[in-house]
Amino acid sequence: DQRQDLKEEGQITEEASLDTFVPDSASIASSIKYHSEYTPSFAPDHFELPKAFKATAESVRDSLIINWNATYAYYEKINVKQAYYLSMEYLQGRALLNAIGNLELTGAYAEALKKLGHNVEDVAREEPDAALGNGGLGRLASCFLDSLATLNYPAWGYGLRYKYGLFKQYITKDGQEEVAENWLEMGNPWEIVRNDVSYPVKFYGEVISGPEGIKEWVGGEDITAVAYDVPIPGYKTKTTINLRLWSTKIAPEKFDLSAFNAGDHAKAYSAMKNAEKICYILYPGDESLEGKTLRLKQQYTLCSASLQDIIARYERRSGEFLNWEIFPEKVAVQMNDTHPTLCIPELIRILIDVKGLSWEQAWTITQSCGTKLASSCTLLPRHVEIIKMIDEELIQTIIDEYGTEDLDLLQEKLKQMRILDNIELPESVAEMIAKPEKSSVEAIESTEEDDVSDEETETTAEEDELEEEEIEEKNEVPPIIEPDPKLPKLVRMANLCVAGGYAVNGVAEIHSEIVKNEVFNDFYEMWPEKFQNKTNGVTPRRWIRFCNPDLSKIITKWTGSEDWVVNTEKLVTLRKFADNEDLQSEWREAKRRNKVKVASFLREKTGYIVNPDAMFDVQVKRIHEYKRQLLNIMGIVYHYKKMKEMSHEERKASFVPRVCIFGGKAFATYVQAKRIVKFITDVGATVNHDPEIGDLLKVVFVPDYNVSVAEMLIPGSELSQHISTAGMEASGTSNMKFAMNGCILIGTLDGANVEIRQEVGEDNFFLFGAEAHEIAGLRKERAEGKFVPDPRFEEVKAYVRSGVFGPYNYEELMGSLEGNEGYGRADYFLVGKDFPSYIECQDKVDEAYKDQKRWTKMSILNTAGSYKFSSDRTIHEYARDIWRIDPVVLP
Ligand code: PLP
Repeated sequence: DQRQDLKEEGQITEEASLDTFVPDSASIASSIKYHSEYTPSFAPDHFELPKAFKATAESVRDSLIINWNATYAYYEKINVKQAYYLSMEYLQGRALLNAIGNLELTGAYAEALKKLGHNVEDVAREEPDAALGNGGLGRLASCFLDSLATLNYPAWGYGLRYKYGLFKQYITKDGQEEVAENWLEMGNPWEIVRNDVSYPVKFYGEVISGPEGIKEWVGGEDITAVAYDVPIPGYKTKTTINLRLWSTKIAPEKFDLSAFNAGDHAKAYSAMKNAEKICYILYPGDESLEGKTLRLKQQYTLCSASLQDIIARYERRSGEFLNWEIFPEKVAVQMNDTHPTLCIPELIRILIDVKGLSWEQAWTITQSCGTKLASSCTLLPRHVEIIKMIDEELIQTIIDEYGTEDLDLLQEKLKQMRILDNIELPESVAEMIAKPEKSSVEAIESTEEDDVSDEETETTAEEDELEEEEIEEKNEVPPIIEPDPKLPKLVRMANLCVAGGYAVNGVAEIHSEIVKNEVFNDFYEMWPEKFQNKTNGVTPRRWIRFCNPDLSKIITKWTGSEDWVVNTEKLVTLRKFADNEDLQSEWREAKRRNKVKVASFLREKTGYIVNPDAMFDVQVKRIHEYKRQLLNIMGIVYHYKKMKEMSHEERKASFVPRVCIFGGKAFATYVQAKRIVKFITDVGATVNHDPEIGDLLKVVFVPDYNVSVAEMLIPGSELSQHISTAGMEASGTSNMKFAMNGCILIGTLDGANVEIRQEVGEDNFFLFGAEAHEIAGLRKERAEGKFVPDPRFEEVKAYVRSGVFGPYNYEELMGSLEGNEGYGRADYFLVGKDFPSYIECQDKVDEAYKDQKRWTKMSILNTAGSYKFSSDRTIHEYARDIWRIDPVVLP
């Protein structure tokens, strides 16, 4: 109908077919009007902002659906190998400007909306952020989707459609408060509910052996996973891939009608609510047993529904030529971290129990397709059996590799590498490696050795715990205490992942080295070929082209074309103009305009008025001890104290005016992180109202940091802080975004900082702090009481304790930076150790900023050197080295 209208209005010609039709502003205006008239939730005679957003989004969706259908139909027709990216998190942010940008329709939409009385940016701000993720891990998944579509790779994302995404953060006088955010309240115009695509998912029950040893998983709780599809457009291509999110509801036959009719409504509803609550919230608190179980149910739902869907597609596309052996030639499954590890036993379960394959066939297929676990055994009884079989397979491989001559070595390897940590070895293996009785002397020696190794194990366990946090920002499920002693208590997800997966990759070079040499060293020695590096990346579309149009124009002008948006190597061209005065002044003006936007945002959100001519120094990311927001704020307190000790003239001569901006959410139950938020806001409240300090120093905590806030803050930043304890940040991705936008980094040699520094040049990166290889020694030194803190650090702690920043008791926070008793956590993250080199490095920052020519040159060289950190490069590497898929350009 809409097309007919457009034809009658003369907006499109007779011969234009829907799939080649490129709308102009007039046809877009008609389409928006059409949707506004037929959108029932708004009064027809008004066209206010919320309605303008909804109608605009629906009009964009029309274009997306055409391309999405064409893409899918073509993949189906040529039966192409597809990659599937499974992630518990997607931090998509807003979609409108990104979609029209990728469709190259921004100008046309802006004009159409102007005709209808609106500004496209105001309309875009009406959209709630889709925050189905916590931080870097989820945002990475979203950047990958953009690159996959842009580069025409046949790939899909799978995830969960949480009703409540990441909480909304309010900053009150008590610190952070969390409020659930119902991002779906006004409906989600981008999703297409697919009631025709649903799969059964089972929990609990029991496994029975049928005829010929066929296992059947019966009884238990049955739910249904329903697909919601979100089209993901590529930039300047028709390819529009799919993000399929699962929502859960009760299986139709499980609704207890007779209970309901008998008046027991609560009973009837409870099954319904149990099914629905699986997708209620992103990352439910998992300190309770219920929380852990729910989290595991979420993970299993993702794995089971996605694999059933992938397998159904494989069967349909194979038609009469169904051959399971070539399944890996058509399917690659990538798991974003450890969360979807249940894919391994689930794929095996479906292949054996449902499709009738043998163990050998199923195991071979699984290892060729592509994946870590803590598990409750009663929840997934069939998977426990399968994991035991995988464990046995692994034990055999370890015996084949190390032989039985050196039994100590073999036992050590089994201890480190097995998937089931505390379950007896199979009898045959136990007998084989049983040792003859030792003489009493040997026994004493061996006890001593055991003592040592126990100690080592304890340290490793602690490190492992932190490693997990590093990878997932505090998100791994500890094992559930299982009441049945016959069942395994702990499934080591990570080991299962390595044993069952085709490849394992770290996400920055230093991280991949740690994975090989520390975390999975035993596996690396056995299977070196499985281990790879894939340094993360970010999409230059959302993270420069669309969020920083001013800088984009300048880059296009000086590099000669807009090609850099898909070919970031072109950014390198900027290097040769880094000293050019014209470029420098254009560059500075663009940064200043972006800073003015940030200043007005800060005023609106916090009431603080900041000077756009001061240096904007930013640390925005999840609040976590290893990310060391505490180091940053302790540095600020040190400078504040120095300022207070000086005369007005001295102060002005010694310091560059700074606006220190913080932002980020603390996990709701992470007490220490919340204390840090409170501390930062208290310092801000004191410093920002101090008339002696004025514009020389402002400390602002931006509430509710999310993707949209990042898109506005990053272009207006000049210095950004990536200061994690070395060895603890797997990669980081905001570091890449800041560098792309001409922001200079201060950081440790950690994660992708190492590679960023290499690319932008050592002179253009402010480096400080201990290195990863020194950390264990430094912690030991602390534990032995040999560490002598810098007097300046002691001075700052005493200053904080003196109560300058208000009545809140900072004892727990300050105490964590010292000692081993009371609040003493022996400064595990080495804030005190790195403090002197950090504040000295900040003095160098001030010096550099005073010379604006030098600073601008550094800024240009950061953008130029960021070319490597496009997710396009990362995705090409995954496609080539792991998934083995090729681009498919639609005809
Ligand atoms: N949270 C949000 C909203 C982001 O946009 C990003 C990355 O840009 C992150 C977290 C990850 O930040 P980092 O890499 O500094 O941990």
